[in-house]
Amino acid sequence: MAAPECVEAVQAIGQIASLCLHFSTIDDWDRLAKFSTIESGTNREGNFHLTASSPALLPVLASDPTTSTPALRLPDIFCIEYRRLRPRAPMPLFDVSFYPFTGVNTTIRLRDGKAFVRLSDMLEGAPESVTRAIAHILLAKLYRKPIEPMHANRYRQHLGSTSVVRQAELVRRSRGRKNVSTAQGHYYDLEEIFDHLNREFFHGLLGRPVLTWSAHSARRQLGHYDAAHNTIVVSRVFDRLETPRYAVEYLVFHEMLHLKHPVRMRGGRRCVHSREFQQEEKMFPQMEKVKEFLKRL
Ligand SMILES: [Zn+2]
Repeated sequence: MAAPECVEAVQAIGQIASLCLHFSTIDDWDRLAKFSTIESGTNREGNFHLTASSPALLPVLASDPTTSTPALRLPDIFCIEYRRLRPRAPMPLFDVSFYPFTGVNTTIRLRDGKAFVRLSDMLEGAPESVTRAIAHILLAKLYRKPIEPMHANRYRQHLGSTSVVRQAELVRRSRGRKNVSTAQGHYYDLEEIFDHLNREFFHGLLGRPVLTWSAHSARRQLGHYDAAHNTIVVSRVFDRLETPRYAVEYLVFHEMLHLKHPVRMRGGRRCVHSREFQQEEKMFPQMEKVKEFLKRL
């Protein structure tokens, strides 16, 4: 069934930028997006930048997730996963770009009906199954839908694969962080704890910052996240045999939330522990025990 728009749209592929202007409202875009692939490639500061939409491919591609269809564009992948999660909702425009994050980091946010996705440049060239997993996870989180275990596993697997780990190390080093890292304490390894919490509470989506025990056993500042140096510091006072693991986990978890929810300005005031931050902190399972422990410190 070839609607006139369909033909038009298909012919228009290649006259890219002007098309995007034509279909500027979401409704138009969604109508058009039912039929066609549209893309607008620009190259800003060497960054790969694309905007496109093609749910028309959905029936073909969704039937077999392992299908190795060549050249599926990133925004297309987001469109496909979006349709699978939200079959009838209007399709947002996807703006997907790579950024030189320090860790393997990904973010998504909605603004004016457009979905801005930022992927770590370390994911450039990742297998399509991984990109699809990431698209699914980000969208599921954004729209509060359950994350399919298949995708969660696929992404975790990719993160754990040695090449990614090694590449992450290399990038971290070459980007010249002052690495005073002594993540490995006498009793607790902060990196291991971070990775565990990342899997458990953040679907592995947080890029690992520099993690370090403090030089001294500070009791006033138990932990902090230094955004400028992308470093989480935990007071050495917790690196003891008698410290329960949940206490260290809680401190790292709290700082991870700072990593996830950057400080915002609200009415001229710095909002450090936003409502979302506090809501999410309640997810930590042993809060009561932690509070008890910290009181006795
Ligand atoms: Zn805090």
